[in-house]
Amino acid sequence: MSSVIDITHYLDDRGFPVFVGSAGRLSRFFGKIVAAASLLPVEGTILSAVPCRRRPGHKLCEGSIHIYRRYDGVIEWTCPECDDEGFIYNWEATYWDKSRYYDSNLGCDAIALIVTREEYDALAGIETLSEESEAILHAAATVDDGVEIAAAPGAFDDLAGHIAFEANHEANECSELLLGKVCERIEVLLEFNEIAQGFYD
Ligand SMILES: [Zn+2]
Repeated sequence: MSSVIDITHYLDDRGFPVFVGSAGRLSRFFGKIVAAASLLPVEGTILSAVPCRRRPGHKLCEGSIHIYRRYDGVIEWTCPECDDEGFIYNWEATYWDKSRYYDSNLGCDAIALIVTREEYDALAGIETLSEESEAILHAAATVDDGVEIAAAPGAFDDLAGHIAFEANHEANECSELLLGKVCERIEVLLEFNEIAQGFYD
């Protein structure tokens, strides 16, 4: 099934995403695709961390959405597992356009961390993230052994701060442990990066 949509149809009068009912579900799905695409260079592609929305035979499709940001601005997306696909127009300068974070977060000095799908979902579920940290998560890629988050060291440092804050305020012990472990790994990654930088300076 192919869908062609104008993303502004999923925003309310003030430009915020609609979040109730089936329109809300679609708004979240298409919005994540737009955010990921907006953080790609023009003509860029990514196997994103956006999970497929389809339920063939009442079972959730396990595919991740592949995204292509076309030269003319149109976003093409497809699920490699079930072949669901679509086109998204008119997303520039909307709520979901996160391209302003591209340079500061995802520049050439970016370093990468691979987390499990469960860890990624826990990070994406943190409500106190900064917009910069949200953008890093939107730009994540699905890889063989999980989800790859890539960002500049400063942006990772910021993300670690938000995770630590959330872990300290987490009532659920499992989530607290999981977030704490991700935080530790980011700190190790940043330390290694600093040592490597010192090596080259
Ligand atoms: Zn699918």
